Amino acid sequence: MTLPQHHEIVVIGAGIAGACIANELLNRGQAVCIVDSASHPASACSSHAYAIAHPHVGRGAPRLLRLTRIAFLMAEARWGQVWKQHGIFQPSKKDKSFNRDDVAGYLQSLNLDEEMARALSAKEALEVCGIHQDGIWLPRGASLNLFEATQDALKPHPKLICCWNTSVARLEKVGGAWGLFNLQDDLIMTADKVIIAAALETKKLVASIDVRLPLRPVRGQLSIFSITAKNSWAARLPPTAISGDGYCLPAEKLPDGNYRWIVGSSFDEGESNLQDWDSSDDFNRSQAKGLLNYVEGDVSQLQKMGSFVGIRCVAGDRLPIIGELTQRPGIFLATALGSRGALWSALAAKLISSQVLEDDLALLTRLGFAADLVAALAPARFFAGAFASNSKPILPSGPKAR
Ligand SMILES: Cc1cc2nc3c(=O)[nH]c(=O)nc-3n(C[C@H](O)[C@H](O)[C@H](O)COP(=O)(O)OP(=O)(O)OC[C@H]3O[C@@H](n4cnc5c(N)ncnc54)[C@H](O)[C@@H]3O)c2cc1C
Repeated sequence: MTLPQHHEIVVIGAGIAGACIANELLNRGQAVCIVDSASHPASACSSHAYAIAHPHVGRGAPRLLRLTRIAFLMAEARWGQVWKQHGIFQPSKKDKSFNRDDVAGYLQSLNLDEEMARALSAKEALEVCGIHQDGIWLPRGASLNLFEATQDALKPHPKLICCWNTSVARLEKVGGAWGLFNLQDDLIMTADKVIIAAALETKKLVASIDVRLPLRPVRGQLSIFSITAKNSWAARLPPTAISGDGYCLPAEKLPDGNYRWIVGSSFDEGESNLQDWDSSDDFNRSQAKGLLNYVEGDVSQLQKMGSFVGIRCVAGDRLPIIGELTQRPGIFLATALGSRGALWSALAAKLISSQVLEDDLALLTRLGFAADLVAALAPARFFAGAFASNSKPILPSGPKAR
């Protein structure tokens, strides 16, 4: 009988989170084995080709603001070729009055310079980014093909082992190491350190070591619309991305003169059905009207030409769960990336690699990543007091961090 292979570090899950962490560890000279139940990387939520990325600049969530700013800078530095910077416009809420100087003062108070975020009146916005609405212009906002980014992060490397079609069903301590077992309950490998980046499946895996996490699915559908050049929408289509109630990418002119426009996303709490739904396209059509402030637009003119459906994984407090599961030494988590996979995966790569390699966190601290932010993301935030063997999650009582 051959003994199961032993690895120093195993990553479970080859979506954008697992791939990014593995890539960072490889860049730091570490050997990594990555395991995924699918036959290739980015088979699940990270098959998403149209993700946008920008720092959060809304009021009332200071911690989210700090975290997304750091994560944005990390993502921008990381993604290079697959990072498409086109700017993102964030329209003001229609039910609130907009005072440009107040908003500019607010952005300044956050230390956001004009290169990062600018308050614009509708007239200015039309000149700067072609959108005739009051709001905030985020010149460095970008979009990212998560599928390509994941593939790129896992391209062949002498220190990378990929185990495809390998589903991990549970974990157990085996001697001094962690054992990974498959559905037949065979021990498939052992590892000193295991990073679980398996989105919702993380819940099942940590339950096998008596840890309960408050993770749940939120289904989302993005619609790809076709718009003919003669259609009344054609003149209104945005030359840049817009993020507000929903989001859209810049409209793309096709060789035949018509347009392709990507608008999303529906948000179905607790739902994990991957089928394409007409009702979600209808929802996106109404989001499209809102994003463009085109109240009289005839939504039946937005012809569907495709869609993307994915299941986001979210935690009870809507922040990602990134960090060491200190109560189970050697286990690290990177999950609950919600709707910010592009940002949180870049942050997870830096934070988890520092923890796995037991660096001091000086570099992260220099980037503004203070101890309170590490704690805000840590799995331990869900557990009060000493970690009982049958740990139940405690949800923070504060407002949701969205
Ligand atoms: C409609 C929609 C719009 C979105 N828009 C944006 C956006 O604009 N910007 C943005 O940044 N993000 C966006 N997101 C979110 C983004 O897509 C996700 O946050 C991200 O893809 C999650 O990556 P992940 O690696 O955590 O999970 P996944 O990509 O789901 O990867 C998990 C991996 O784990 C593997 N796995 C699971 N269980 C096991 C097991 N037991 N054993 C082995 N392998 C296992 C799976 O096969 C999978 O490959 C959107 C999501 C949706 C649905």
